[in-house]
Amino acid sequence: MPNKTGLADQLRQTVSGPVLTASDEGFAAELAGFKTNVQHRPDVVVGIISAADAAAVVAVANETGTPVHVLATGHGLPAPVTEGIVITTSRLKGLTVDPATKTAHIEAGCRWGEVIAAAAEHGLAPIAGASGTVGCVGLVLGGGYGPLVRTYGVASDWVRGFELVTGTGELVTANATEHPDLFWALRGGKGGFGVVTSVDVELVELSTLYGGSIFFGTSEIESVFRTWVDWTTTLPETATTSAVILRLPPLEFIPEPLRGQTVLNVRFAYVGRPEEGAELLAPIRAAGSVLIDAVAEMPAAEIARIHNDPTEPTLSWDRGVLLGELDAGFADAFLGAVGPDQQVPLVAVEVRHLGGAASRDVPEGSAVGGRGGAYSLFMVGAPDPSLHEAVLPAVAERVLGGVQKWTSAENAVNLADGFALPGSYEACWPAETLTRLGEVRATYDPDRRFPYGPR
Ligand SMILES: Cc1cc2nc3c(=O)[nH]c(=O)nc-3n(C[C@H](O)[C@H](O)[C@H](O)COP(=O)(O)OP(=O)(O)OC[C@H]3O[C@@H](n4cnc5c(N)ncnc54)[C@H](O)[C@@H]3O)c2cc1C
Repeated sequence: MPNKTGLADQLRQTVSGPVLTASDEGFAAELAGFKTNVQHRPDVVVGIISAADAAAVVAVANETGTPVHVLATGHGLPAPVTEGIVITTSRLKGLTVDPATKTAHIEAGCRWGEVIAAAAEHGLAPIAGASGTVGCVGLVLGGGYGPLVRTYGVASDWVRGFELVTGTGELVTANATEHPDLFWALRGGKGGFGVVTSVDVELVELSTLYGGSIFFGTSEIESVFRTWVDWTTTLPETATTSAVILRLPPLEFIPEPLRGQTVLNVRFAYVGRPEEGAELLAPIRAAGSVLIDAVAEMPAAEIARIHNDPTEPTLSWDRGVLLGELDAGFADAFLGAVGPDQQVPLVAVEVRHLGGAASRDVPEGSAVGGRGGAYSLFMVGAPDPSLHEAVLPAVAERVLGGVQKWTSAENAVNLADGFALPGSYEACWPAETLTRLGEVRATYDPDRRFPYGPR
């Protein structure tokens, strides 16, 4: 392998976008992402501006035996990259919506919020994740749970094709008819195939839905959460919900009456007539005295409002698992571990109701794991870096120990936090899928130019 300067010089000869090493101005800014505590220090970062740039980087990487990592928004990648080349995709901003075919062509630097806004102009919506700032490609490579997941399935179910530069340096299209093995793998298999330069997704006709958030105060959390667990078992697939205990800091940007409070936030999304949605939600509205009720008919363009995820870069620590079917015993165990009486440094502990369309694979098959998860459990730690190394992992382990009886043997790769838990990589896919993913990687990235998963 050449030294960093030699590698950068070689890349500059063939790449049109910026090529930066640690001694160049803009190096840290090029590598900054959503998780401000994750600071990457690769040998070189390359801001690609085209698929040709991606191919040029891979050619140099293959010539020099250098590993390549891909960074879009930085919502994933929990551990810093300390070697090789990082390709950043933020300059690939092309986005077109074709209302005639109800599809969107999305370049790798786009975030879901941009696609939601562009599709809404035509009364269409993508099946995206909960947050508008997560990257489109990173989410679909891992499947992708969103606020409508029970109704429409995971985001990757709606992908109709990818363009990518593989580990061998070839620019290929992967769809149902071209490289179908690679298409199968990219829908849920996550990493280790190459750099995706664009993705085509089918959109659904949806301009409004009945959805939003309801907040309950500290004293209501226990009884409403118990009702919520019970109520989810009655919901049709046209309804998707999650419940999250939030420990909100006393900061000004948080509106009263939530500021500085521990609250329960129930999110709800119903695809159908508003009156039917309101009827379905009635048991939750009646379960306790409500602090804020912001569930109503809403434009699909505002769907990210349902979860209200943070949009600005932040110190971030998270961990998630899938759960099986829940019962009253789960509510006891969950509240015993993270309920309002517990002192836990977790700003958010969320349970999402999955199942429905998320449990069914696409007819042609995809590598999405975790289809059997009936719910997910996701913890976000307090934004204090001194807790990240030891305290939060120990807290998470205690919480997971308390609900172990309901934890699924499967996990979902978008929740797994870089496989921090022992065995969590293997848990993200059934054994047969893992074997097949290995075979596809061996074809398209035989030298592991795009390192992924445990070695
Ligand atoms: C606040 C927040 C909210 C979230 N909400 C959801 C949610 O609702 N549903 C859900 O399913 N997940 C959710 N996630 C998880 C998220 O989907 C994953 O972390 C995803 O990997 C983020 O992709 P990214 O491109 O934004 O991030 P990045 O950190 O930039 O990328 C993560 C990984 O994706 C791969 N990748 C990204 N772009 C490319 C590319 N062009 N070519 C090849 N590989 C690429 C790489 O392996 C990279 O390491 C959330 C995460 C956060 C922090």
